[in-house]
Amino acid sequence: MNRRNFFEKAIPASFALGAVATSCAPRTEMRYPDKHFHIGRGYHQIPKLRLSMDRIVKETVGLRPFRASGPRLDVEQLGNKTIVHNYGHGGSGWSLSWGTGNIARKNVLATGEKQIAVLGCGTVGIATARLLQESGCEVTIYTKDVPPNVTSNLATGTWSPASRVCDKTVAKPEFQAIWEDATRFSFRRFQFMLGMNDIACWAEEYGVFREAPVYIPGAGGEDFEIEGLLPERVRLTKKEHPFKADHVTRRTNIMFNIPTYLRHQLQDFTMFGGKVKIQEIKKPEDIDALSEKVVVNCMGLGAKPVFNDQELTPVSGQLSCLIPQGDVNYKLYTKGANFISRKDGIYIGSNGIVGNWDTTPSKEQTEKTVGILMKLMEEMKG
Ligand SMILES: Cc1cc2nc3c(=O)[nH]c(=O)nc-3n(C[C@H](O)[C@H](O)[C@H](O)COP(=O)(O)OP(=O)(O)OC[C@H]3O[C@@H](n4cnc5c(N)ncnc54)[C@H](O)[C@@H]3O)c2cc1C
Repeated sequence: MNRRNFFEKAIPASFALGAVATSCAPRTEMRYPDKHFHIGRGYHQIPKLRLSMDRIVKETVGLRPFRASGPRLDVEQLGNKTIVHNYGHGGSGWSLSWGTGNIARKNVLATGEKQIAVLGCGTVGIATARLLQESGCEVTIYTKDVPPNVTSNLATGTWSPASRVCDKTVAKPEFQAIWEDATRFSFRRFQFMLGMNDIACWAEEYGVFREAPVYIPGAGGEDFEIEGLLPERVRLTKKEHPFKADHVTRRTNIMFNIPTYLRHQLQDFTMFGGKVKIQEIKKPEDIDALSEKVVVNCMGLGAKPVFNDQELTPVSGQLSCLIPQGDVNYKLYTKGANFISRKDGIYIGSNGIVGNWDTTPSKEQTEKTVGILMKLMEEMKG
């Protein structure tokens, strides 16, 4: 019997068996596993997102701290303080936090000092502080705000180490090797977090386009790639996906459940004896007044006025949050919109406005992205 004949015969036979079982077995035992239905349809079934404006419970605008030459990672002497910089990660701060934290750690350890001040309590500051603790340093974080009131809390939460990380026409050629070193370190680090309350986990990611997508440098896509870190992105045939689109890809990617992640890392920091002091740094003299001789600057956009960094500029990004939906656990991006399913909600986004300091959410932006995704879901099979 060939394979097709087998299924043609086997599936009705299974139903028949179920019909017999109905009369003598409790109702729950007669249910068939889902896979029988998938075989019949031929394509991989993907649950539909329930979208409507009344399911939006939160809208936020975060400011990515962008520097055309890439994050600032040098060391400078300010009076009797050594300042180790680690800020300006653009749209890749979550992904690169451990990697650039490791670069900052090497610079700190080279001073021989063990009492270290870290400025800033976003994902970059916390990762850097943890790495310093692991190397035997006593760390105090000085910060204006703590999570949830930090930019890091307003991010999507996907592994995107080269998203708006620099302007390739401005960054020095040696930046790519620094980026690669940081990316590889971060990637390894995230593998140790898998299974810990899903603070970091793997998820399927679909790219769905009617026309072949065009790569635009600096528009939020990955400006550099390292082969072999993530599983390959595969192109799906029409029979393999339920979307009304000709260009569909799937790959498995890392994602971060932001609120639990930040809480987990901050708890680890205090568990290892770290201290957090709420203090705004307004001018270099405020740094001079700290008791520590070595200070790591992880203030993100907040570094701009204190260090007069002309290069540092915001790239604003709006996210609209839908009520979580248990069966939707994938990510999707299409022309003009994307979403990611986190434990705390389904975050819809897409935009990036260079130089925009306004953090007021726009209803039109939410309606636009919700509209794009609603159409995509309506046209989806299943
Ligand atoms: C919409 C959006 C989506 C994003 N998506 C992703 C993504 O999917 N993946 C990814 O890798 N990255 C993403 N990013 C980028 C990422 O969020 C940032 O690169 C990252 O949050 C920067 O972290 P940080 O710790 O440097 O800055 P912040 O989170 O801004 O932390 C800075 C800290 O410094 C403190 N501070 C600031 N000024 C002062 C001061 N004067 N005195 C004392 N303390 C001060 C703040 O209170 C805060 O604690 C996204 C960003 C946005 C806006």
